[in-house]
Amino acid sequence: MNIIIFGPPGAGKGTQAKFLVKKLNSFQVSTGDMLRDEINKDTEIGKKIINNMNDGKFVDDEIVNKLLEKIIFDSNKKNKLIFDGYPRTINQAKNLEILLNKSNQKIDYIFFLNVNKDSIVKRIEKRKIVEKRIDDDANTILKRYDTYMEITKPVLDYYSKNKNFHEVDGSMEISDISLKIEEIVSE
Ligand code: AMP
Repeated sequence: MNIIIFGPPGAGKGTQAKFLVKKLNSFQVSTGDMLRDEINKDTEIGKKIINNMNDGKFVDDEIVNKLLEKIIFDSNKKNKLIFDGYPRTINQAKNLEILLNKSNQKIDYIFFLNVNKDSIVKRIEKRKIVEKRIDDDANTILKRYDTYMEITKPVLDYYSKNKNFHEVDGSMEISDISLKIEEIVSE
């Protein structure tokens, strides 16, 4: 089963992706984690993306799409992918479709975690204390939210017409969100 967890920054995508990874014995595909890893290892990609990442701007589609390709064609992970933070642009959504088609896979469920802007700002401020991410400061959070509304929201409109699209109230307790998602995937 392949699943996309979709939503604004701070919606709880990572948390729910981890829940599904455990439940379905799958793999989390967090492009944010993959990109942070490139920076921590100071790779060529890491050097290219560090400024964008720290400013809360998107990394080029070309770089993200390339990182993704390796995972889609990894036979151990086939049909066990939980996407968290990808796709974020229409170009990425189309790229994902092409790669899945080529590897005889599809998306089984798309979950949209809907959370309003005020809650997101509060949540990310809390997360900054725990995870110490540079891009979690107040100004960058607002920038990331605006980028989401401008560039990622069209992807939501694109997916919302699909039969396998489910909107979940992301302001509920974490365990209630997990329960809701679990109910749907077990149907
Ligand atoms: P995340 O951990 O998903 O919140 O992502 C953190 C940051 O990584 C984002 O603000 C972007 O700078 C970058 N990033 C993560 N995923 C993507 C993506 N799919 N496309 C472009 N940039 C991304």
